[in-house]
Amino acid sequence: MAKAKSKVKASSEDESVKTQDSETTGRIAAHVSLSSAEAEETEISIEKKLIALYSLQQIDSQIDKIKIIRGELPLEVEDLEDEIIGLQTRIDNYIQEIQSLNVSIKEKQNQITDSLSQIKRYEEQQNNVRNNREYDSLTKEIEFQNLEIALAEKRIKEFSHLLSLKNEEVSAAQKIMDERKNDLEIKKAELSDIVSETEKEEVSLQKKSKEFQRMIEDRLITAYTRIRENARNGLAVVSVERDACGGCFSSIPPQRQLDIRMHKKIIVCEYCGRILVDHGLAASVTL
Ligand SMILES: [Zn+2]
Repeated sequence: MAKAKSKVKASSEDESVKTQDSETTGRIAAHVSLSSAEAEETEISIEKKLIALYSLQQIDSQIDKIKIIRGELPLEVEDLEDEIIGLQTRIDNYIQEIQSLNVSIKEKQNQITDSLSQIKRYEEQQNNVRNNREYDSLTKEIEFQNLEIALAEKRIKEFSHLLSLKNEEVSAAQKIMDERKNDLEIKKAELSDIVSETEKEEVSLQKKSKEFQRMIEDRLITAYTRIRENARNGLAVVSVERDACGGCFSSIPPQRQLDIRMHKKIIVCEYCGRILVDHGLAASVTL
């Protein structure tokens, strides 16, 4: 099917080539010394290639535009997903810290309970001592346990303070995460809208691009691809606009412009290496 379509395209281009050719043949014939039949054939084939190259450029530029529109969104979605994973990890760490703080508080509370029951036991023992020495020794034990209780209470206070800080951090991180999740939903919806809107167009443009590529020899396609990759704006084929290269805006001498208009060979810009076509040929390309 693609082949049939490309044939239709090619023949319709033949016509546009012929119409244009009939206007220029007279002028060209004055400059070239080839036999008229031969000359016409060379001209048409180069001209055809130039038209195909320029058409290919227009199609590929449209594909570039679609990619630019879509371009930032997949990255934004990815960034948001990464950020949410990061926040989740942070929240998980806080929760672990909270759990271990709770365990520590519980341990200190148990310690206090133990100390209190020990104190109670010592106090009971003090009622049954046989001498002062035993009494004093128990008093020392009670004092020690009271110190232990005070220390445990101090630790519980510290842990509780840390606990409330961690809880605040968890709710702050949770709030940010909820916002990011919301943003992610929106971006994902936008992306899927754009993809579904542009997918059909992109597929059909890719198909057209392939059809034009088939009309051009590999050597030229390789050069075209290489120039496109090196050019920041993705332009490998540009038209001469206001006596200057449409890619780098360097001026083009009149004789070179004349050569470009003759379509006898593929001419590239001396400064940027882009393939040049004349304004008339560019204007004749309608896709
Ligand atoms: Zn240039």
